[in-house]
Amino acid sequence: MISHIEHIGIAVANLEEAIAYYENVLGLSCYAIEEVEDQAVKTAFFRVGETKIELLYPTSPDSPVAKFLEKKGPGIHHLAFATDDVEKTLQDMEKKGVRMIDKKPRKGAEGLKIGFLHPHSTGGVLTEICGEK
Ligand code: ZN
Repeated sequence: MISHIEHIGIAVANLEEAIAYYENVLGLSCYAIEEVEDQAVKTAFFRVGETKIELLYPTSPDSPVAKFLEKKGPGIHHLAFATDDVEKTLQDMEKKGVRMIDKKPRKGAEGLKIGFLHPHSTGGVLTEICGEK
């Protein structure tokens, strides 16, 4: 069901500085910057093999990422696992007793379907399930 880590979401307080770090220090290149209105964030993407780095910068003080930055500061925000069928994976996890943030998929960056699991059920790691279907 789950094939690989699709991306790692990282909350940043300054998007330009963060992009400069990934490009100039790590030598990666930012291939997309996209605003996701649903989550009030601007995202910037880098490929690292099969996995991506997703930088998250809040576009509104109400953004969940703005609240995360206030509480914890910049750093790793979530881990996203790729699956072939997001809806079915979310249903299976709910059946296993996982506390869900999203019981049904919604639209994330890059046109992917996404759903979040609550960190209370995942050992404290905000976990995203994502895929094309
Ligand atoms: Zn994500």
